Amino acid sequence: MKTIIANWKMYVGAREGVELARATLSALGNREGLPEVVLCPPFVAIADVSGVIANSPVALGAQDVFWETKGAFTGEISVSMLKEFHVSHALVGHSERRALGETDAMVNKKIHALLAGGMVPVLCVGETASERDAGKAKETVIRQLQEGLNGVSFQKEHRLFVAYEPVWAIGTGRRAEVTDVVEMHKTIRKTVSDLLSSSVSVLYGGSVDEKSASAFLREQEIDGVLVGSASVRADAFAGILDATFHSLS
Ligand code: PEP
Repeated sequence: MKTIIANWKMYVGAREGVELARATLSALGNREGLPEVVLCPPFVAIADVSGVIANSPVALGAQDVFWETKGAFTGEISVSMLKEFHVSHALVGHSERRALGETDAMVNKKIHALLAGGMVPVLCVGETASERDAGKAKETVIRQLQEGLNGVSFQKEHRLFVAYEPVWAIGTGRRAEVTDVVEMHKTIRKTVSDLLSSSVSVLYGGSVDEKSASAFLREQEIDGVLVGSASVRADAFAGILDATFHSLS
């Protein structure tokens, strides 16, 4: 099954979030063979969006999480607070958070906290343009995986996604070549399997829209897409969902 994760970033608040969630439900309709769809609103929209998608196949994700369970951590949100609203997934290590100071060590603590709380981490990895130009794309991604997953004892009840998101492709309108993505996904699968003795779902993210989605989704090596900017345009996101159905048929 393909997975489509929508990262609404800081683009929409609760009111527009409710509209987008409703639009997603109507785009999915009653079709057979639904993809797994996860919506990641900003924290302030989580309660309202949770209400809209209750009793539907659409899952709820957070854009971030804090690793401690409780305490004097102003501005932070814990795993159990998210679970109160039926949030099942959380992005970790998104490049926009790494740019604000999130380190691999912080990513690692978040992954441990999410798995311990029964949530599904979506570990975002990817090289910058200068790392790619220097021939260090794979080295960078492998390091992010090794440090992010350090000390993780992966049990059969655990689930994990890795999202390959080249930094230079996020929010830029530039997309990675499908062949390069497939090659990187193979590297990610091998690295995670060596680290966790488990298989993992690997998504691509970076300027995916309704026109480009099918080129990625038709590849067996690409388990789905993480969509940012296009996911807050209801028509574009519906087009991506359509592309998923076509890639499955
Ligand atoms: C993202 O935010 O994870 C992302 C892939 O953004 P965009 O689709 O806008 O490049």
